[in-house]
Amino acid sequence: MTKRIFRAISLVALSVFLAALVLIMGALYSYFSHVQRTQLRIETTLAAAGVAQSGRDFLNGLETTDYRITWIAPDGTVWYDSQTDPEKMENHLEREEVRRAAETGYGESVRDSETLLQRLLYAAQRLPDGSVVRLSCAQSSVLYLLLGMGQPIMLVVLLALVLSLLLASRVSARVVEPLNHLNLEDPLANEGCDELSPLLHRIASQQRQLKTQEEALSHRREEFDAVTVSMNEGLVLLNPKGTVLSINGAAQRILGIGQGCVGQDILVLNRTLEVQELLEMAFSGRHGEKTVTMDGRDYQMDTNPVLYEGAVSGAVLLIFDVTEKKNAEQMRREFTANVSHELRTPLHTISGCAELLCGGMVKPEDEGRFHEQIYAESRRMIRLVEDIINLSQLDEGARDMKRQDADLYALAEEAVRSLSPEAEEAGVTLRLSGQSACLPGIPQLLSGIVTNLCDNAVKYNRPGGEVEVTVEDAPTAVTLTVRDNGIGIPPEHQSRVFERFYRVDKSRSKAVGGTGLGLSIVKHAVMIHHGTIRLESAPGAGTTITVSFPKEEKQA
Ligand code: ADP
Repeated sequence: MTKRIFRAISLVALSVFLAALVLIMGALYSYFSHVQRTQLRIETTLAAAGVAQSGRDFLNGLETTDYRITWIAPDGTVWYDSQTDPEKMENHLEREEVRRAAETGYGESVRDSETLLQRLLYAAQRLPDGSVVRLSCAQSSVLYLLLGMGQPIMLVVLLALVLSLLLASRVSARVVEPLNHLNLEDPLANEGCDELSPLLHRIASQQRQLKTQEEALSHRREEFDAVTVSMNEGLVLLNPKGTVLSINGAAQRILGIGQGCVGQDILVLNRTLEVQELLEMAFSGRHGEKTVTMDGRDYQMDTNPVLYEGAVSGAVLLIFDVTEKKNAEQMRREFTANVSHELRTPLHTISGCAELLCGGMVKPEDEGRFHEQIYAESRRMIRLVEDIINLSQLDEGARDMKRQDADLYALAEEAVRSLSPEAEEAGVTLRLSGQSACLPGIPQLLSGIVTNLCDNAVKYNRPGGEVEVTVEDAPTAVTLTVRDNGIGIPPEHQSRVFERFYRVDKSRSKAVGGTGLGLSIVKHAVMIHHGTIRLESAPGAGTTITVSFPKEEKQA
């Protein structure tokens, strides 16, 4: 800005100076030219009078350096010249001033010197004898005068430039000063800046626009963050160079990346080969999908390119935890195999017995045994199928089952009553103690829990053994305890008895009509009621299973 102002001021100053110089010089030059000419004329008249009176003596007696005097004969021959030898001078008859003087008595002329730096003024007067006296003097041309004044002019120009520079820096400082003190937060609050008013209004309107855009942007970012933060799936957005633009908490946790990773290269943050391959696919514009195992968990990773106007402008990496899904698939496969296996044995027995009976290959006295076996195996199959149906209902979350308040003590009473014949047959004493305890739940499942636990306590007992069922009603929970002093469960099996089809002693379980699904049904039913289950057992000493149900029904 200072430069521009300096240029403008110096241009104005120099223009004014030059204009003034030209005007003044022009006026003075014409005035002094006029004076010089008048002077020349007077001097010529005087010289002519002197020559006319005294001839050559007058001329010889003259001591003038300002004028050049020439006396020219009527035929143009130079008789006398104050500066040059007349002998060497050419005929002057044709000189304009001489010619005019010869004709009219007086003549003047002006001629430029060869260098153009000077002009020569001539004035000639005719004498009575026809001869002509001519005076000439030099007049400096404007150019000459200017050259002569070069130094002072340069001085003035220099002074003008210095002053312009000073003035420019002061003016620009003064112009910039209000700009420096502008309150850009509130441009319209700046007072006394009328010239800046349009600018301030524009800044204010642009600020309003920016603010609106910023608000919209941060609103969108908040929405995006809110969505991604609560996602269980990992989400990573990358630019085409692989720099992380956005990453949610789930992705950080899965990929083992700490905070502050935005802006860093994903391949530096995570060196998993599969991730690298997937991102390469995305950056080459293709969709990628892989299942990766990290820290003992299985993740499905999907990458997609982000395309903008046909070019890859980034990539999205989505990570799903598929561990549960894979485990469930595995469990389902195992379950199907187990079910087939469990069903095959009774079916083979039934079919074998029936075949022998149909073929008449069984002695009449043995037929009754065969019928009993067919009946027992078919009962076993029915129990198995019922347990499978129960389990699949529980797997579905028991959605179709009716929920209502149930008295666990009453359900336990019912179970004890129905199992009494079996207990009696096994020589086991079955006792119930405690008090009425209501809790919200699914009566059908609660009843299944008590029945299964009591059934096991009787089945895996010894003649003369005891089973004690207790129902307690605490302020926050209802507790069911089934304690027996039966065969007990060895410690290494205790954590697995709740698995499907897991039995400690398979032949004993089968002998007592077990399906291997009882405890897994119990575990599921307890989970559906948000309860907890605890098993304490010692081989030979007995088993105690404690189930605790919270009274407040939690959200499923
Ligand atoms: P099952 O139909 O074989 O009884 P469960 O799932 O009910 O299947 O029980 C799994 C296994 O746990 C049983 O086979 C048995 O070996 C063991 N078990 C369960 N309850 C008891 C108990 N009260 N005492 C000893 N062992 C038990």
